[in-house]
Amino acid sequence: MAEFDVDLFVIGGGSGGVRAARIAAGHGARAMIAEEYRMGGTCVIRGCVPKKLFVIGSHFRQEFEDAAGFGWTVPSAGFDWPTLIANKDKEIARLEAAYTTNVEKSGAQIVKSRAVIEDKHTVRLLENDKKITARYILIATGGAPNHGASIPGIEHVISSNEAFHLKELPKRIVIQGGGYIALEFAGIFAGFGSDVTVIYRGDNILRGFDEDVRTHVRTEMEKQGITILTGCTVTRVDRHGESFTTHLSNGSSIGSEQVMFAIGRHPNVANLGLEKAGVAINPNNGGIAVDHFSRSSVDSIYAIGDVTHRFNLTPVAIREGHAFADTVFGKREVRVDHANIPTAVFSQPEVGTVGLTETEARAQFSRVDIYKTTFRPIKATMSGRDTRVLMKLVVDGTTDRVLGCHMVGDAAAEITQAVAIAVKMKATKADFDATIALHPTAAEELVTMRTPTARHVRQAAE
Ligand SMILES: Cc1cc2nc3c(=O)[nH]c(=O)nc-3n(C[C@H](O)[C@H](O)[C@H](O)COP(=O)(O)OP(=O)(O)OC[C@H]3O[C@@H](n4cnc5c(N)ncnc54)[C@H](O)[C@@H]3O)c2cc1C
Repeated sequence: MAEFDVDLFVIGGGSGGVRAARIAAGHGARAMIAEEYRMGGTCVIRGCVPKKLFVIGSHFRQEFEDAAGFGWTVPSAGFDWPTLIANKDKEIARLEAAYTTNVEKSGAQIVKSRAVIEDKHTVRLLENDKKITARYILIATGGAPNHGASIPGIEHVISSNEAFHLKELPKRIVIQGGGYIALEFAGIFAGFGSDVTVIYRGDNILRGFDEDVRTHVRTEMEKQGITILTGCTVTRVDRHGESFTTHLSNGSSIGSEQVMFAIGRHPNVANLGLEKAGVAINPNNGGIAVDHFSRSSVDSIYAIGDVTHRFNLTPVAIREGHAFADTVFGKREVRVDHANIPTAVFSQPEVGTVGLTETEARAQFSRVDIYKTTFRPIKATMSGRDTRVLMKLVVDGTTDRVLGCHMVGDAAAEITQAVAIAVKMKATKADFDATIALHPTAAEELVTMRTPTARHVRQAAE
């Protein structure tokens, strides 16, 4: 009889867990994966995918408006929120089924239950109270929205989870948060026609992004009529039937039909049995502490993806899951390289970014050259839309290596995915310059910016 019931027990059927289970099964492991909600996890069910569908849907407003400058007469367009939700739900159900089929095809077994850890080789399924022993346990339980400190009326506040299932489009919505989820939903609701107010406690939105990007996105969003109030927080939410009054720390208040918080997410580590098994938490971020191979403080237990709270992005969770399976079951040690991960904010306009910001580069390198341009995109010349694109390259002035690329404008995410290859390959500014432009595009600016717009040289004594 085998020593353990399975070789691998994965807790969580999201991006990372699914990839790990499939690859491990491919390496011949007897793998089992538990999911308490829906297969596919956050990204597929209530994250990246439905979000992007909403972004695409909401962007049609601009398309209809811009069409006039090109000769089109577009009759007053109507929008039906329930149709959007129903079609989105249909697509998500299709993806969920595809995830299930793919896992089953790989030979891994799915159990629809919450799983908790009993000891370093045992999990318990809450659905039937059954215990399963495993040579290895992989924790891939992801994260969840975090509403922060409790305030009066917090029970009226929705998160992104509920925003995907609202019965109707709110006429007015207040969104607290300055990160990518808050701004993406601000663009979504504004595009569909809601009156949107963003509340953020810091002095500017998109903390951690390049300063020029932060300023540019804010200006562009404000031009579209989104109100952004910084330096204040929500202190109380009062309900009056179907509407709410949101009170702010600056003494003012705002009426709306919905109040949403997107102020952060916490790793799903609670009530998992971590203490029982001796799995340590990283004191710096509250996620499960792991080494370069995603191994926790217990040698038979690994953790990947958002539950480790390192880089909370789907492709990172997938890469970590794959690397784990190759390392543990594929006889090939694989470390995930977390440098130069490209990211996007699907705000409107969208942001694409890879590598160092200007501030980070100046802290790490003694000579930093900045190449920056803003321009009116060709479409806006005929549509008349008041909008500008931002492109910025951050270059090591000593080696000429491109350290960072930041863009705000249409297709920024698509462009950044391609530029990320060059940045990852340590391309120099001379390599960019040697590349012939593709005309007429916005991206051609990346290979035609000749003169630095700023040059920072750190004095030896600094
Ligand atoms: C609104 C929103 C938009 C996003 N947009 C993007 C984007 O554009 N690009 C991007 O790269 N990332 C995006 N993300 C982040 C992305 O969704 C996550 O980084 C990714 O899903 C992490 O994968 P994971 O496998 O670590 O966890 P998850 O995908 O969260 O999967 C964890 C799974 O574990 C299950 N689970 C938890 N506990 C248990 C238990 N005890 N037993 C059984 N099952 C359990 C959960 O139900 C869940 O299905 C977005 C997130 C949100 C919320």
